[in-house]
Amino acid sequence: MFCEVRTTNKYESFVSNVTKWGIDHLGVFPWRFCEDSYKILITEILLVRTSRDKVNAIWQDFFARFPTISALAKSTPSEISSIIHPLGLQRIRASQILELAIRLVEELDGIVPLNIDALARLKGVGQYVASATICFLTGEKTLVIDSNINRVIDRFFSGEDHDNYKSSMTILERILPLDNLDVRMFYFSLIDLGYEYCRRVPDCEKCVLRTSCSYNIHRH
Ligand code: SF4
Repeated sequence: MFCEVRTTNKYESFVSNVTKWGIDHLGVFPWRFCEDSYKILITEILLVRTSRDKVNAIWQDFFARFPTISALAKSTPSEISSIIHPLGLQRIRASQILELAIRLVEELDGIVPLNIDALARLKGVGQYVASATICFLTGEKTLVIDSNINRVIDRFFSGEDHDNYKSSMTILERILPLDNLDVRMFYFSLIDLGYEYCRRVPDCEKCVLRTSCSYNIHRH
């Protein structure tokens, strides 16, 4: 009879350390673990190239004024613009958001499609927003990679900062199938860890990954 010895591989160990850190340090934002597909979709659109603090500052006002996709579809660009102006590019963004809301109401009965390809095809959504919306809403293990996620994974596994997301995507494709992966907790923790410590100039001394991170090990 063989005794099964389970070894923890580097991906499992990475996920475990990141997620454990997140349990005590995760930022509290109203869109995290939200169950409203409309709010998650619009939030992810607003977060593109915009800091989460800025989005957080207008979030309650936005959804108090437009609580449903129908309410948003009945609004005007100037009404939307008046709320989202602190984010910048408010006129363009307001028109895009309104156009999307009208299309969802008129063509899809106001229902956000829970399918990445269908969602990504909608004008103003795109692959990243579609993937993030599906993952953060349903917990499906989709590929979600932004600059924070890329920087942590790239530095941790390769010790480098690559110009594109290619190597990080390959690593993520190995991580996502892991058993017992709480994908939302993992991504939120990774985003926050990148935001807190793994900035352009990283603060490795305070980072929970410092003892096993290739980037930190190679620079000493
Ligand atoms: S140890 Fe440094 S480089 Fe590595 S993930 Fe943490 S902050 Fe980033």
